[in-house]
Amino acid sequence: MAKLKTIAVITPGGDAPGMNTAIRAVVRTAIFHGLKVWGIEHGWWGLMNGHLLEMGPKSVSGIINKGGTILHSRRCPEFKNKANREKAYKNLADKGIDGIVVIGGDGSLRASEIIMKENKTPVNIIPATIDNDIPCTDYTIGFDTAVNTAVEAIDKIRDTATSHERLFVVEVMGRHNGFIALDVALVSGAEAVIIPEVKTNLAKIVKQIKAGQERGKESFIIVVAEGAGDVRKIANQLQNKLNIGVRLSILGHIQRGGTPTALSRELACKLGATAVELMLKGGGGYLVGAISDKICCTLINKLAKTKKQIDLEQLRIANMLAT
Ligand code: ADP
Repeated sequence: MAKLKTIAVITPGGDAPGMNTAIRAVVRTAIFHGLKVWGIEHGWWGLMNGHLLEMGPKSVSGIINKGGTILHSRRCPEFKNKANREKAYKNLADKGIDGIVVIGGDGSLRASEIIMKENKTPVNIIPATIDNDIPCTDYTIGFDTAVNTAVEAIDKIRDTATSHERLFVVEVMGRHNGFIALDVALVSGAEAVIIPEVKTNLAKIVKQIKAGQERGKESFIIVVAEGAGDVRKIANQLQNKLNIGVRLSILGHIQRGGTPTALSRELACKLGATAVELMLKGGGGYLVGAISDKICCTLINKLAKTKKQIDLEQLRIANMLAT
């Protein structure tokens, strides 16, 4: 096996807080070990169109605490076409790139698998998405920050809900999963949580709220994951069945930005460094994650068969504490 000399780093999917911290870790680790590093700007589109930028230690100065990605991202459906991918492979070859560190989510992972199969370039993936929907890692970079952002917002919503004795339906992000919603519901003391993984029993929620009203509860928060159904419809149905003012708040993209929390940064630093050092030892094709606080590298081709499951025990505790 030829000695690794040049790597590239890319953030091709949805942005997540802590991606910059991970870019910094990748670049600094690579330079520490004498590698040349290229930053690919604007995702796979940028790779197809030659948007590559040589990076040094200074290119990543002052970004450890910045949300977003300095490399920018751009959705690129054209990358599903093999002829377009060939253009990308040519640009990799032109720069002598013999390994890629991809920082991203599910879609970035799928694209990486294809690159490894077609072009034989080793790729290591660092899971970074607020959705936390990547298996073989407890958390993804950005998840903790998104949860904290949503919790802070809900704490504020709770103040107005209590003042006016209202019920707020709050939609949080998470694509097809309830990971953000479940964490947010538990730690913000929401009265109920609606997630795609569990069938919604609106009649039960109505009954619980009525019981809460009888006990003198002044406000109610119902957290709904964006993938769990039409939140407007849910709010209307609740308004029709309850004798309380119902309001809707969709938190949206504020959950994607902002200063990464210490946990998101810690994960980014450790996973970024490991992804490069693993490649230096000849390890390519890994998802570099962390399980029970230990770095855990899993071959990407083993991931296809696994799906991260929601923690039903956490749901039970959230429901129990809400009564
Ligand atoms: P994320 O990594 O956050 O899940 P996306 O789903 O947008 O983000 O995926 C990032 C990019 O990866 C897409 O814009 C596209 O260029 C590429 N991609 C995703 N799925 C595939 C696929 N099946 N084949 C080739 N490229 C893909």
